[in-house]
Amino acid sequence: MADLNVVVAGAGGRMGAANIRAVAAASGMALSGALDRNGAPALGRDAGVLAGLEELGVTVTDDIEAALSGADAILDFTAPGASVALAERAARTGLIHIIGTTGCTEADDARIAQAAKAGARIVKAGNFSLGLNVMMSLVTQAAAKLAGYDIEIVEMHHAKKVDAPSGTALMLGEAAARGRNIALKEHAVRVRDGHTGPREAGSIGFQSLRGGTVVGEHSVILAGPSERLEFSHHAEDRSLFANGAVAALAWARNQPPGLYSMTDVLGL
Ligand code: NAD
Repeated sequence: MADLNVVVAGAGGRMGAANIRAVAAASGMALSGALDRNGAPALGRDAGVLAGLEELGVTVTDDIEAALSGADAILDFTAPGASVALAERAARTGLIHIIGTTGCTEADDARIAQAAKAGARIVKAGNFSLGLNVMMSLVTQAAAKLAGYDIEIVEMHHAKKVDAPSGTALMLGEAAARGRNIALKEHAVRVRDGHTGPREAGSIGFQSLRGGTVVGEHSVILAGPSERLEFSHHAEDRSLFANGAVAALAWARNQPPGLYSMTDVLGL
């Protein structure tokens, strides 16, 4: 089988560099393009050099059509607007589109789902780590079995992160809500400040900490009478997400168009 030609979008970003390294190291894949936004400092640079490798002969561009020429797949950890536009572009030629971008609104997600219906093969996950995805299925079970326990989700990320709660914290919230058979939207408490009154029974609370260079810490606490169960996940470096995203790429190669998650990729 010919190599899968992969374009890394957000090539100049923290995840972009990890994704370039992961694609370069993957067998059966080749980096065929590198995209970043208009005005990004990475434009014009060699993607390999940017990611700390040897020259790969792929120059970072903001020209989407030039970057996608001959491409089979897009590995995209950018920003919501960019991911929606790339999904719609992926639908036109049936590309594989791996979306790691977080902070998408419901309207963004609806357009991404529509692009999958129109022909794109999309795997979208707020977290591409294997351990975290296993933790999600354990959280669903625990939330179902420990029905009256209070659920709180705590996350910490580096100081440059722009959205809160993290996409992963929201996924963990969804996992807990699934176990309780409730809609997260109607039970999430994302901010507490001042005289809040007692905790509302059945709510799912979120706390977001920001600071330093923390890659990603997530805990789900189930607090009941006289006991507390905690699940914790610690991401040690970004290669973890890039490796998961590359595994999703390889998996999506054999799937029909549609919208998939890491649960599908890992068969959880
Ligand atoms: P970053 O700011 O370092 O990088 C983002 C890159 O995207 C930048 O180079 C930026 O210029 C580029 N970009 C922005 N708009 C663009 C556009 N229109 N077209 C092309 N490129 C564009 O951020 P990061 O830490 O690499 O994270 C990127 C995204 O990935 C965030 O949403 C983050 O939350 C998410 N993330 C997801 C996972 C996961 O496993 N799903 C893991 C880590 C980070």
